[in-house]
Amino acid sequence: MFVKDFLWLLFKENLLINWVYRHLLGSVFPVLQQQVPACDLSNKDTYKTTKLKKPMFSVTGYTSGTTNQPMTVYRSVKSILLEEYMVKTFLALHRVQLKAKIAVLRGDMIKASTDNTPPFWRFAPFTGRVFFSSFHLSPENVPAYLQQLSKEKPDIIMAYPSSITFLAKQAKLLGWVPDWPFSGVFTSSETFTPENQQICREVFGKVFDHYGQAERVAALQQCAFGHYHVREDYSVVEFVDDEHGTKIVGTNAHNSAMPLRRYDTGDYVEGLNKLGNCPCGNHSPYVTRILGRDDDYLILTDGRHIGRMDVAFKGVEGLLECQLVQTDGKTLEVHFVTQPGYSNSQLEQDLAAVLQQRLGDNLQLKFIQQLSIARTKAGKFRSVIRLNVGNSSVSN
Ligand SMILES: [Zn+2]
Repeated sequence: MFVKDFLWLLFKENLLINWVYRHLLGSVFPVLQQQVPACDLSNKDTYKTTKLKKPMFSVTGYTSGTTNQPMTVYRSVKSILLEEYMVKTFLALHRVQLKAKIAVLRGDMIKASTDNTPPFWRFAPFTGRVFFSSFHLSPENVPAYLQQLSKEKPDIIMAYPSSITFLAKQAKLLGWVPDWPFSGVFTSSETFTPENQQICREVFGKVFDHYGQAERVAALQQCAFGHYHVREDYSVVEFVDDEHGTKIVGTNAHNSAMPLRRYDTGDYVEGLNKLGNCPCGNHSPYVTRILGRDDDYLILTDGRHIGRMDVAFKGVEGLLECQLVQTDGKTLEVHFVTQPGYSNSQLEQDLAAVLQQRLGDNLQLKFIQQLSIARTKAGKFRSVIRLNVGNSSVSN
């Protein structure tokens, strides 16, 4: 931790480095003009060409893998620089100062999840970052988090959408808002619904989401109007329609360690505007919503697949978080966290009603009230888990 933080200060997080990224690297990563030759997108094999042999200068990473096995990915030095360039220019776009104080709420392990006593945060002495735990968020612990934030007064918070949403819901109940000049919350790595974004904006004001993936073939970033603009200096992005909707297909240009051509991200979008005539002044194409992958679905007894379950809970009062766990072909466990002050039995009734509306009487519902929903090892939240049904789930 100590050494890593020092290296970060030297190579990643200081005034000079931030300035170089913001002002000098633009010429290294110009907007890509190349046209990708058309190929048959119905044939999965044409989506990618990958070097299977690990090149000499590269870094290995892994995709997170939910219902699929994680995939190994290789990154060239230029690709690593590009990723950092994306983050730093995203912050610059939203007028974050060159040397911002950063709070992080992104799945870092701060202490054992069984240890429920503060502090739930840790300081990085060189970079000045404050790392908060995603694993200790509960109604009981949130006041300590908010108190610490008020004390630290970070310029920005970098967060997982699920973690910052949990914090925002509780902050709203407590009437807490940042009482210092706050530049915004920057999120990535999980699907962030418009409803949850709205809750976070009510508390933190500015919230900007970045969409990317471990394969690094497409990056979309939110502007001040909440639109996800394609970063055309990152890769060549196409939007391809299939029977489920419109999805993101990307071709990278700066990763010689693993060139991917017309790679299918499996992520669906809504509200595509190819003209990019957004009032923010950015003329790149944008979408209004990232729906994410289509594999978080339940399988009914009649074989139907029901996805996008997060929409079902919109407007259910008193619900802090909910996770659906299909334990076999007939049973659905509904793990839920009740907001303090609300009745469990009423919440159960409301949840049963919205679930029955979508699923009929296909699955037997089993309600399990919890104090918090367990995160994956990476600290991420999963809204739907299928155990022994369809593809088996791999935790990450
Ligand atoms: Zn815009």
